[in-house]
Amino acid sequence: MGQLFSREGAVALRNSVREKMGRGNELTTSLLLHFNKLHSIAERHDDKDIETLLLRQKEYEISLIGKKPDYPKDLPKFTPSSADKCDRELLFKTLKVEKDDITYPFQERWTRNSSAVHAAVQRDLLYAEKLLENPAFTVERVVSDNPLLNGLPAWEKNIQTYKIIEHNGVKFVVYGMMDGILRYKDGTRIGFEFKTKTNSISQLSPRQLKDAGESHKRQCVAYSILFGIDEFIILYESVAKDKWNANELAKEDLRAFYVKVTEEQRQKLLDKWARVAECYETGELIDGDNTKCLFCPFKTECAKHTGGIRQ
Ligand code: SF4
Repeated sequence: MGQLFSREGAVALRNSVREKMGRGNELTTSLLLHFNKLHSIAERHDDKDIETLLLRQKEYEISLIGKKPDYPKDLPKFTPSSADKCDRELLFKTLKVEKDDITYPFQERWTRNSSAVHAAVQRDLLYAEKLLENPAFTVERVVSDNPLLNGLPAWEKNIQTYKIIEHNGVKFVVYGMMDGILRYKDGTRIGFEFKTKTNSISQLSPRQLKDAGESHKRQCVAYSILFGIDEFIILYESVAKDKWNANELAKEDLRAFYVKVTEEQRQKLLDKWARVAECYETGELIDGDNTKCLFCPFKTECAKHTGGIRQ
């Protein structure tokens, strides 16, 4: 049997895997500890500086109401949150095909609850900076000529941006924002992605959640293209908790995963976007992926072309 790797190659590969695991372990453990330390402080102190910053954040958000994004509208546009979607769904979205209009009120409340937890976590990150001794993470601040934006935390709409990309001979826009850019105590920039699980605490058990979701990892690849960061922590919180009196035996409600984005992953995603952008230009219908239909809002349109899809 032929050798797949030289001895040196195998050693280098093993070392790189070990290095990645070591770094990932360090970062994820530090972030979990960061939150656990904060949430162990029995008495929360409202802080004037932080609350003023959050007020300024609101002021900036209000200033954006009614403003249209300024990316070029004649190019196909892709966003990080749709990085793992089916190519055909991306094409329909780019072509502004009519969506199926089926949402249920409970789904709206589901989204609303998750957004509220997101806001609470952002607030926690700011309080952790202030209340913890030698905090492992701080939130990067935005530097901008816009006085409303300057000095705000580097997250969400404060860092919303776009990039025009030419790849495989086609041009497209990548547009989006992310949950946050953190600074680790060693000075490195770490992308922070926060996800909630809402059905049950067991969704976070090591048996059910072995690793970060593939679509969430792909989202990090897109952030890496847009923001030039290659290390990420995806933090999952279960909104449902264990019984109050489970105390120190309570099931884990926070899990963190490390993602290191590679150049190969970036190229793969750029290839995918370029394929869709090409079909946008030529009018060709791209293949669908029937494993990704659950949240697709174009099922009716898609069925016209395929004669039926799996729900
Ligand atoms: S219905 Fe499924 S196959 Fe069709 S576009 Fe949507 S995700 Fe793709």
